[in-house]
Amino acid sequence: MFTFTSITQYHNNLLNGTTTCVEAVQHYLDNIGRKSSLNAFVEVYEKEALQSASFLDSERLAGKSIMPLHGVVVALKDVICYQNHTVTAGSHILNSFSSLYSATAVERLLQAGAIIIGRNNCDEFAMGSTNENSAYGPVQNAADITKVPGGSSGGSAVAVQAEMCMVSLGSDTGGSVRQPADWCGIVGLKPGYGRISRYGLIAYASSFDQIGIFSKNLYDAAKVLEVIAGEDAYDSTVSSEKVLPYNLLMQQRNEQTRPLKIAYFKEALEHPGLDSEIANAFHSYVAKLRSQGHRVEAVDFPLLQYVVPAYYVLTTAEASSNLSRYDGVKYGYRAHLAAQDDLTSLYKKSRSEGFGKEVKRRILLGTFVLSAGYYDAYFSKAQQVRRLLVEQNDQIFERYAAILSPTVPSTAFTIGEKRNNPVEMYLADIYTVYANLVGIPGVSLPLFQHSNGLPFGMQVMMPQFKEAELLVLSNYLMQLNQQ
Ligand code: GLN
Repeated sequence: MFTFTSITQYHNNLLNGTTTCVEAVQHYLDNIGRKSSLNAFVEVYEKEALQSASFLDSERLAGKSIMPLHGVVVALKDVICYQNHTVTAGSHILNSFSSLYSATAVERLLQAGAIIIGRNNCDEFAMGSTNENSAYGPVQNAADITKVPGGSSGGSAVAVQAEMCMVSLGSDTGGSVRQPADWCGIVGLKPGYGRISRYGLIAYASSFDQIGIFSKNLYDAAKVLEVIAGEDAYDSTVSSEKVLPYNLLMQQRNEQTRPLKIAYFKEALEHPGLDSEIANAFHSYVAKLRSQGHRVEAVDFPLLQYVVPAYYVLTTAEASSNLSRYDGVKYGYRAHLAAQDDLTSLYKKSRSEGFGKEVKRRILLGTFVLSAGYYDAYFSKAQQVRRLLVEQNDQIFERYAAILSPTVPSTAFTIGEKRNNPVEMYLADIYTVYANLVGIPGVSLPLFQHSNGLPFGMQVMMPQFKEAELLVLSNYLMQLNQQ
């Protein structure tokens, strides 16, 4: 029987002949079929995946060497373009829209030998924290099917959690990779802004969006990152900062010999919305770190109360502009028109019928905060908050190597529980939006189990472009927890 623990182990098995890519793909296809009620996939590329697998197997038989992601079975969130495949951002408005090109990340995955197995369910246009805002219906958390998996990349998280692929790509604008990873008990890595090209990623809020990686372990996330990261002529916001051999560095620097200085935000741990068991687990973990000689300090961070409002003002403003292109003319869904309807009613009807409730709420909010009379009161203010956050962040990292926090203040919600309470729902983002506001990398590590039976994690953040250090430190933090 096929078993998967890591890409390296899988490659060893390919090399010593104990498995094949076809066997791997068949294993995941079987799991996808058996677990279809979780609703993690909206489309499965069964035939294609098997074909690529047998092609990869035959190449190896013909003596070709193994590629970095040879036969690695990957799933894609339904916001990442894959040429000649449907992509809908979980929305009716992109009904049966087919991608004209592949995202740079997808192109690089394929070139490295990966096999794309299917398209994952997600919140419409990546707006949500529970995957309930999807035109395809909610996704179930495999740890407890009455619970949501988190969002917006819920399907991609469950696909890895429930062994329906080896790794998956999601997108993280305010936590959409780290938060579902936390609720599903897996690794969720959001690299810093500008690390991975956004070309071919359907835009939600362009100055926040970043492709992220779900995996069962940190080494696999590192392997995928080194393939998909780096400069791209199609996205000028990608940095030319060198992409490092993250996986190798993790192996080489597997010992934490120096004592570290680590910060956490005092206000984050004092927040009334934080589950007490999560707070206790965090404090016990901090005590463990201190007992190893590390300095872990609480820093005052009064700006915490502004991060969620600033995030929602700025992202909805960007979204209202980004989503104006879906007008019933260029893409996907077009409303039926009556004889008297003109072009304006075509736009209005197509958008009213095509977009879901949460997306409409955000377009309205974003248009409002950008409107002439309110621009200064909301949009400019939020930008000023963002600037202050960046300054404070720089100051914190002058003194500390990393910032720790819980990833989410609670464990997974019950399906339907928060559907009518957007403000409570937005609070689930309180610890994750910070990294997107200031552009730094963050990862959620699957460390803990709640007495309610659900998993939860811890978030580690480091300065921009310190993904290598982030992965090395995270590896240490994971090992420390097992001691
Ligand atoms: N939950 C957040 C939101 O609804 C984050 C979404 C994301 O990262 N795409 O906006």
